Amino acid sequence: MSVAEPVTASKYPDVQNYIDGRFVDGGARRIDVTNPSDGSLLSRVPCSTSAELDAAVAAARRAFPKWSATPIKERAQVFFRYKALLERHIDELAALVREENGKVIDEARAEVLKSAELCEFACSLPQLIPGEVLEVSKGVECRTERFPVGVVASITPFNFPNMVPNWTIPNALALGNTMVLKPSELVPLSARRIAELLKEAGLPDGVLNIVHGDREVVEAICDHADINAITFVGSTRVAAIVYRRGTSNLKRVLALGGAKNHLIVMPDADVEMTATNVVASMSGCAGQRCMAASVMVSVGDTSRVIERMKSVVAAVVPGQSMGPVISAEAKARIERYISEAEAKGAKVLVDGRNCVVPGKEGGYHVGPTIIDHVTPDMAIAKEEVFGPVLAIIRTSALDEALAVENANPYGNAASVYTESGGVARQVMEKASAGMIGINVGVPVPREPFPFGGWNQSKFGVGDITGKGAVEFLTQTKKFTTKWNREAGVNWMS
Ligand code: NAD
Repeated sequence: MSVAEPVTASKYPDVQNYIDGRFVDGGARRIDVTNPSDGSLLSRVPCSTSAELDAAVAAARRAFPKWSATPIKERAQVFFRYKALLERHIDELAALVREENGKVIDEARAEVLKSAELCEFACSLPQLIPGEVLEVSKGVECRTERFPVGVVASITPFNFPNMVPNWTIPNALALGNTMVLKPSELVPLSARRIAELLKEAGLPDGVLNIVHGDREVVEAICDHADINAITFVGSTRVAAIVYRRGTSNLKRVLALGGAKNHLIVMPDADVEMTATNVVASMSGCAGQRCMAASVMVSVGDTSRVIERMKSVVAAVVPGQSMGPVISAEAKARIERYISEAEAKGAKVLVDGRNCVVPGKEGGYHVGPTIIDHVTPDMAIAKEEVFGPVLAIIRTSALDEALAVENANPYGNAASVYTESGGVARQVMEKASAGMIGINVGVPVPREPFPFGGWNQSKFGVGDITGKGAVEFLTQTKKFTTKWNREAGVNWMS
């Protein structure tokens, strides 16, 4: 909305930017922030200008010399304290995630706990990243040390308002970088509490800054001469824009995109475990996880699993055990995919369209949906739906199932349900995805293992968490030294 339009009362005051340790008003243009559970107005988020971004980057640049020169063991202490604060404030933080994103409270709590686990890794960085040293010829020593890259910008999506910012913040800062965070304009509220808790944990002013906004400020980030690296998490369309624009401005960019995750179900799969896992993977967080099951590739006769899934999914109640999707547009898009597939001959086994939660009629609810006999040419089989929808594609052999998985352009995750080690090994080798599950529906690697996909689910080198992030967020300096006068003369002299 523009400033000239009448202002409707919102639950919270307008969202503010955070620059050099202070919350400040930003952007003349404002976007409404709604609670997806009932459509009520929560707040308004500013669309920051490039001048406001300049102020945030300048603060990060000013803070960099002192922060990067602080020993890593001292920097890590901030994250021990921040982790404890995340745990102490989990109820409040989870309630905020629930309010702005819509996920149910257990999912919101799990997200905050995951943020705490990400801090654990950052706290252990002093143990993990000592440099290397070797006497390479008599009296001559080579050593490597890691240095931060400078100012890192992090651009985040709507689906994990607390966790995804914490994919980058603890590692980037513990490694000595300073930061500008650009949260999703759909869920901008959690970022304020992240900044407040980091300040309470002892993070110096200017080390973390926050600018809010949409496309305009993201483009300004990609173009900004004083930003050295960008981590982006969001859709593949925008990941490609940010990757191209950021790298053409000679920045390091790691851009994680969308996903289309295939769960291959073999005839020997354990019926109960498979049915409950597949339903949990497709309906958890209302299907709005980049690791959510999107396609079940059935191999041979899996009718007992499919029958059991129908009864398991009946226990998933929108508005109670499953939250809404993020917006009215998302609901319309998801329902369109289902209707198009149905019109082309797919069979809707469980229909979540036209879902209304009593008392929350203004919310953006979609019930869990299972749609069978989908063919690989249908849009629902090829594109990211990002809702609680499972498309079932029937195949007669593992090779055929792997061909379906391999043909999709994404590559975040893939799983197989089987009792056969040989089948599992084939999927591990041949699935074209960065994160593979064996009898696991949401194969998110836990710390210290890195998170990151393949193909169009990730542009750039490295991973967003774990050791892959250390490579992305640091640069090595190589030292060659000679202090021994007796050292022999050779080509290094
Ligand atoms: P999105 O791409 O719409 O938005 C992500 C960020 O980009 C936001 O901060 C937004 O302000 C900005 N943005 C949006 N349009 C832009 C444009 N035209 N130019 C520049 N910036 C723009 O993504 P979303 O809808 O917020 O999040 C859902 C998507 O994120 C899904 O595709 C999901 O798979 C993906 N995701 C991927 C991962 C992963 O690890 N690969 C993790 C979480 C989410």
